[in-house]
Amino acid sequence: MNVQGLSEREIFSYLENAKSEDTDYYRVLSSMCTHPHKIAAEAHRLFIEANLGDLGLFAGACKLEQEVVRMLGELLHAPLIDVPSADSYEYSVCGYLTTGGTESNIQAVRGMKNLITTGKKGLKGTPNIVIPESAHFSFDKVADMMGIQVRRASLDSEFKVDLASVESHIDANTIGLVGIAGNTEFGQVDPIDKLSEIALENELFLHVDAAFGGFVIPFLEKPQPFDFKVPGVTSIAIDPHKMGLSTIPSGVLLFRSPSVLESLKVSTPYLTTKSQFTLTGTRTGASAAATCAVMKYLGHEGYRKNVQYCMQLTTKLVAEARKVGFEPLLEPVMNVVALKVPNPDLVREQLLERFGWHVSITRTPRALRLVLMPHNTPEEIIIFLQDLKKVTAA
Ligand code: PLP
Repeated sequence: MNVQGLSEREIFSYLENAKSEDTDYYRVLSSMCTHPHKIAAEAHRLFIEANLGDLGLFAGACKLEQEVVRMLGELLHAPLIDVPSADSYEYSVCGYLTTGGTESNIQAVRGMKNLITTGKKGLKGTPNIVIPESAHFSFDKVADMMGIQVRRASLDSEFKVDLASVESHIDANTIGLVGIAGNTEFGQVDPIDKLSEIALENELFLHVDAAFGGFVIPFLEKPQPFDFKVPGVTSIAIDPHKMGLSTIPSGVLLFRSPSVLESLKVSTPYLTTKSQFTLTGTRTGASAAATCAVMKYLGHEGYRKNVQYCMQLTTKLVAEARKVGFEPLLEPVMNVVALKVPNPDLVREQLLERFGWHVSITRTPRALRLVLMPHNTPEEIIIFLQDLKKVTAA
């Protein structure tokens, strides 16, 4: 650190310099995040000092967080509970704003572990969870941090989790299952209704990782079952900082029943509140304000249009790719395309070096992975395919 402070002008010139190295999402086809909506950015700034880790001091930001949980409970079909003698209604859902899908997944599994290790009969040895092979690498962190064995079930030919494989991994030490609603690499949705049957039969928790798909699936023309409408679903991760158009960091973890959230509590003797169930202590209230604002501003119709736009881009990309001889690995379910190209690693490298395109690669099988986000345009797609053709012809 320099001894004397720099001037404002110097600081901003320094920051501008750093910012010029960022992409601004230009030619980015690899990211599940995008520009936050301007309403979200303004709301974020307004609550920049709010700390949700000390709720007693920030009652306003806390209300906004609860409102986000309520709105998402409604969107994701949380069951209603009776409120005696009121015109109003309440959802049984509870949860909180996390830093994103990783924290939500960690906390969902921590909740399973806390409840089960105190309650389940016959649990001998290391508890395990069964997740699809396509699950996000955040579950590797779960395994590492929590002494839980993470068992990976194989995928079927459509890149959905194979149910027979899931069942074959369940034993007396299994505490829960995970299904992905919009997997990171293929955008595929696991058969959550069938996983729910297996979970209910075996008395297991079922966590749905809808970090990406949560703000996509409800707005598709034909949404697949993935949320609390499916009876065995016990928790859902959904990220407003991805297709929810909110600011980073904005994730949400929702539980069907308060008991799992309760199991995460630790006491907080020197704060304005007695306990905390979150993973991080200090948490930004700015994300709650941003997410609440953008959800209220866009409403269902705004998100439907956002998803429609991204799906139109997706359809266009696949149609144009086919014209030049590239097939997708699967018909896209959402705005993620896995494109079969020869030597995808080299193609990726060349696309970046020669034309500045940021794309990524699926692991098995290896294919170009493209995410069509609100920052992309139809014109960009045409140029991308021209560049792809040049790169693969070389
Ligand atoms: N789950 C899924 C399905 C994801 O696609 C991602 C990230 O892309 C995550 C979890 C992790 O989210 P984050 O990076 O916000 O922690």
